Amino acid sequence: MSAAARKDPAAVETEVREKIHLEILKRTGAYHANDHILLPSGQHTTEYIEKTLVTTEPSFTEGLGAVIAKHFAQWPVDMVLSTGPGALILSHCVARAHPSRPVVVYGTKGLSGGKRRVTLPVEFQRLIRPGVKILLIEDLVSTGSTLNLLINLVEQLGGLVVGIGCLWRRTSVELDNRPVFSLVSRDFPTYDPDNCPLCKRGVPLNEEFVRRRHARRPSSVQEPKEA
Ligand SMILES: [Zn+2]
Repeated sequence: MSAAARKDPAAVETEVREKIHLEILKRTGAYHANDHILLPSGQHTTEYIEKTLVTTEPSFTEGLGAVIAKHFAQWPVDMVLSTGPGALILSHCVARAHPSRPVVVYGTKGLSGGKRRVTLPVEFQRLIRPGVKILLIEDLVSTGSTLNLLINLVEQLGGLVVGIGCLWRRTSVELDNRPVFSLVSRDFPTYDPDNCPLCKRGVPLNEEFVRRRHARRPSSVQEPKEA
């Protein structure tokens, strides 16, 4: 029996679905593969996703949002909550397609006392009453830190996180055993420059994404030194 025949049909379906979603992300120009890329951390990798490009095609975003909404359709949802422009665009598409017709609410990311924070406008805070059922939406989940901030925020106000939906999740991320549904679950290896097989083969290093990141970052949001 071949390896493919032994696979569980549900796993095969998931794999096919992920491939389709990855192709969609590729068509936005957001997903780069087969390259030798310098990451902001100083590590090298072969794949990269440009967050800002992920939600630039409305019909793609609507389609992907509908897939997330369908996954969570069996659970009543009062509110869809996100933070960041890309996640907000996606959360609108999810809310629009969810049968509960949830409201869309968003937080703002920032730094306070040297720590990353997410804050909600006062008008939105009033909407999160005890027992309100909330679906969290994120575009890309790489460390999970933003989602953990959102979870804390919701729970402090008495809301219930019914689930987390995202376009892309690095598979190494743990979110406190919360149900996470991602259209693409994919991790890619990162290498120390001293130990990088692409460097050893002499493949030119693509520093474009790190350069662009530095150029874009306004001085007011530079990471402060740890107090
Ligand atoms: Zn390298």
